[in-house]
Amino acid sequence: MQKSNWLRAGLLATLAGGALLAATPASAQGSLVMYCGVQEEWCRAMSGAFEKETGIKVAMTRKSAGEVYAQVKAEASNPRGDVWWGGTGDPHLQAAEEGLTLEYESPVNKDLHPWAISQWDAAKKRTVGIYAGALGYGFNTQQIKAKGLAEPKCWADLLDPKLKDDVQVADPNSSGTAYTLLATVVQLMGEDKGFDYLRALHKNISQYTKSGAAPAKAASLGETAVGIVFIHDAVVFAVQGDPIKPVAPCEGTGYEIGSMSIIKGARNLDNAKKFYDWALTPAAQALGAPAKSYQVPSNKNAPVPAQAPKMSEMKLINYDFVKYGSSAERVRLLTKWDKEIKALPK
Ligand code: PLP
Repeated sequence: MQKSNWLRAGLLATLAGGALLAATPASAQGSLVMYCGVQEEWCRAMSGAFEKETGIKVAMTRKSAGEVYAQVKAEASNPRGDVWWGGTGDPHLQAAEEGLTLEYESPVNKDLHPWAISQWDAAKKRTVGIYAGALGYGFNTQQIKAKGLAEPKCWADLLDPKLKDDVQVADPNSSGTAYTLLATVVQLMGEDKGFDYLRALHKNISQYTKSGAAPAKAASLGETAVGIVFIHDAVVFAVQGDPIKPVAPCEGTGYEIGSMSIIKGARNLDNAKKFYDWALTPAAQALGAPAKSYQVPSNKNAPVPAQAPKMSEMKLINYDFVKYGSSAERVRLLTKWDKEIKALPK
């Protein structure tokens, strides 16, 4: 092991033990610009804990996955961000292919689940898996009852005319969740039937939101009968007693490998690497559950939140991350969705 790796391993051991590095004044540690792709609360928990443990000042911005990708691309000639943490893996893979992010091998890689490392392999070391979560939906139990509908269990159930203007999902251009839906139906049903499904679903969509998790909140409040989201985003409201029930669709469903990348041209590269190593530790990954984020963490030694949906009990498709994270396929599918679905009258 090189000397720098020994140092890094020492730093990790210190952080994992919960000891603070705050003996050195914060100002001496510099700063880090973090683009964060999960829910605001988890983003704040991560940036706050890292700042406290290392003294490195973190400037964090939360955006949806497609929006962070667009920002990193727009800033490529004059990068402002250092690390991109979280959000669905597909846009991270697209950024990797387009050379917008950097190769990096963390010493913590050895402790990660194989699915997190296959993401890293697929990206030629430019992104790594940090959590996994399955796609599905949440429905408002009171609204479904009031409409005289049986509890929905399948993707097909969302096409019922009684759900007209009562289903929400995000726009796949901005949202990683919604892109996962697009890629999932194409893989599950075949492209033609998948687009037929999205066309039929469009009749029931009241609005395409910007952020992927927003429809879960709307369903929990009864503002919509159904919100298509990552199942863990519906669980957040179910565990607090709201009238929302999460569903893993009967036909099968896709899933995400939430990812992390270092931005090419990062001005605070050493700090980006420190954050990257730290974010893969069990202690850092345990910060998700208290921030109401119930994904499955990528470090084998990190606790799996008790509320995390049991992916092993779901019918999961064999999601092709390489194909659906490729630049050409993402651009093609998003352009087709804009033209053939979003532009449709209702
Ligand atoms: N919220 C959570 C908890 C997530 O895990 C993810 C994806 O990784 C998202 C939201 C995705 O956000 P968006 O669909 O807005 O890109």
